[in-house]
Amino acid sequence: MPHIKLLSPRLANQIAAGEVVERPASVVKELVENALDAGAGRVDVEVEQGGAKLIRVRDDGSGIPESDLPLALNRHATSKILTLDDLEAVGTLGFRGEALASISSVARLALTSRTVDQEAAARVEAEGRDMDARISPAAHPVGTTVEVRDLFFNTPARRKFLRTEKTEFNHVEECVRRQALGRFDTGFTLRHNQKTVQSLRPAESDLDRERRVGSLCGRQFIDNAVMIDTEATGLRLWGWVALPTFSRSQADLQYFFVNGRVIRDRLVAHAVRQAYRDVLYNNRHPAFVLYLEVDPATVDVNVHPTKHEVRFRDGRLVHDFIFRTLHRALADVRPDDQFRGAV
Ligand code: ADP
Ligand code: MG
Repeated sequence: MPHIKLLSPRLANQIAAGEVVERPASVVKELVENALDAGAGRVDVEVEQGGAKLIRVRDDGSGIPESDLPLALNRHATSKILTLDDLEAVGTLGFRGEALASISSVARLALTSRTVDQEAAARVEAEGRDMDARISPAAHPVGTTVEVRDLFFNTPARRKFLRTEKTEFNHVEECVRRQALGRFDTGFTLRHNQKTVQSLRPAESDLDRERRVGSLCGRQFIDNAVMIDTEATGLRLWGWVALPTFSRSQADLQYFFVNGRVIRDRLVAHAVRQAYRDVLYNNRHPAFVLYLEVDPATVDVNVHPTKHEVRFRDGRLVHDFIFRTLHRALADVRPDDQFRGAV
């Protein structure tokens, strides 16, 4: 048997990267989440060649103090939690301190940032060598820009799994759609190969929010949806559910957010399916954009590195609340509401 040895930090990061960095869209997800955690009012995403060549995310958030820059690219380095108590009621999208370390271990990463207290910005670069980052002065307004070039340049096996430019860009677009649905108060732009694909101003009123949902999910959806907003037993569920007549042949228009984080959850999926059961044919799928707000201490988001899964402390309560709210909303729909050019 060979002796036991400690992995080099670089290899450890590359292994961890396997969990969070699957494709360009996963990089976009992590960078946009960081921008949102930094309180950005505006996030600009730019990609080239579906993101395989370049991903650039720019925000006007808090920025990173220059003295923190060398740490930012290190694994397990985060400004978001410090203790187990923090973890148990985490309010930010990130907290694992892994994304930048993982990404910089499998791509060429450059981060430029400036805080309000700094006269000038600083830039840190790492090329598949997260532990030895170079820092230099730079020009940048308050906020942060992260550039990720040549994803998987040093891990050819993973690069081979990248699909066509179009497919990769579709994933990027879907990722930005989710983030933009999750944060109405933030403006977003998305550019691909120098062309603007999406441009969304911050949505402040109900009408603005409806417009944003319309431009992200289609006018047809919003014209055929009812808005709901119900609060009970410390839970709030709001958003838009499509009328049964606007059902789909695929489950491709279903967004469920828990405290601003888009999730896939069996308990939630079951509650929604049950609520639609009497009004939908078996092979049809409902369309919805829903937001559940719960006390962060009653939900565990540290289930999986990508944080797509959650665990509710009282699953039964959450399930019944979702079921009852949707069931009532669908029962309230008058028959003459049911025809608005549905497909
Ligand atoms: P996490 O988000 O889990 O903390 P990351 O590796 O994504 O870990 O980021 C590491 C740290 O770098 C963050 O905790 C944050 O302090 C800082 N950071 C990263 N991106 C930004 C950004 N766009 N604006 C401000 N700070 C950032
Ligand atoms: Mg992060």
